[in-house]
Amino acid sequence: MITTKLRALAILSGAAALVLAGIFSVPASADGVVNIYTYRQPELIKPVLDAFTAKTGIQTQVLFLDKGLEERIAAEGQNSPADVIMTVDISRLTAAKAKGVTQQLADEEINKNISAEYRDPDGEWFGVTKRARVIYASKERVKEDHISYADLADPKWKGRICIRPGQHDYNIALFAAMIAHWGEQRTEQWMRAFKENLAHKPDGSDRGQAKAIYSGECDIALGNTYYVGLMLTNEKDPQEQEYARSIRVIFPDFGADGGTHVNISGMALAKYAPNKDNAIKLMEFLSEHEAQQIYAEKNFEYPVEPGLAPSEIVKGFGELKADALPLVDIGNNRKAASEMVDRVGLNDGPSS
Ligand code: FE
Repeated sequence: MITTKLRALAILSGAAALVLAGIFSVPASADGVVNIYTYRQPELIKPVLDAFTAKTGIQTQVLFLDKGLEERIAAEGQNSPADVIMTVDISRLTAAKAKGVTQQLADEEINKNISAEYRDPDGEWFGVTKRARVIYASKERVKEDHISYADLADPKWKGRICIRPGQHDYNIALFAAMIAHWGEQRTEQWMRAFKENLAHKPDGSDRGQAKAIYSGECDIALGNTYYVGLMLTNEKDPQEQEYARSIRVIFPDFGADGGTHVNISGMALAKYAPNKDNAIKLMEFLSEHEAQQIYAEKNFEYPVEPGLAPSEIVKGFGELKADALPLVDIGNNRKAASEMVDRVGLNDGPSS
């Protein structure tokens, strides 16, 4: 079996993405090929794509971009080789739709596999997995069993919290959920107090926050669930296992207002998909049991398939009680959340 998987890394200068290598080696439209444009780390989608190729014989070609994916497809216009868009975060899915680079898909099988709450009413994007934004807590230094999102503003955490930069999609989605629940005024009050609780300026990745707890820089942090599984099983970098073993997962919630903030990774059919039939086959596959199980076992994500359990590691975190807030409400408050982060100066870190 040949597996041609090309990865083009986008090197960014300003807003323009310049692809240096890995231009697709076969014509944009060819039998047995599907072209994927993705914001997802290639190694994270490789296991499901390999399973797809094994099952269908269709080769997958991946273009990985860390910025400007929608803009790029828009610029390519009708000549775009993009068949399927794979991305994380509801905001990026809605952005792709808003930019007009997706098309409607009404597919019986996909709609049967993915319940309505996790897909666009117009069929322009579909959630494939869920992830929760939780608290990583030091096993040694944090005794609390439960911490709510509101609690993170409590002065008892002064100098003890770490977070990645405020404008990152994962944080913006969480802050947007807060605005949806609490309104702007209360959320801004919360954010100002939260900022004062930070150990230092927001920096790094979610994994980096676990490292910061391990090294004693802070006691709690915000991070996504799957990174804990990925770190605990990281054979290439065993140091990450140490970081992950130093923390435990606490599911924060909105108290009476709602459960733990959940976001999705998802997929969309590209507007001018030259290999549309193959694209639909791939999208159907990603919604099916086999792919859902791979996402759960290998990526430590929560499947969208109803009733399918997450991996043992993720089960070990405890029971996820997901916030019922519609994803669309999060998307709608995203801009307000982003402006709030700047207004509050969250990325400047604590004032003293
Ligand atoms: Fe991630």
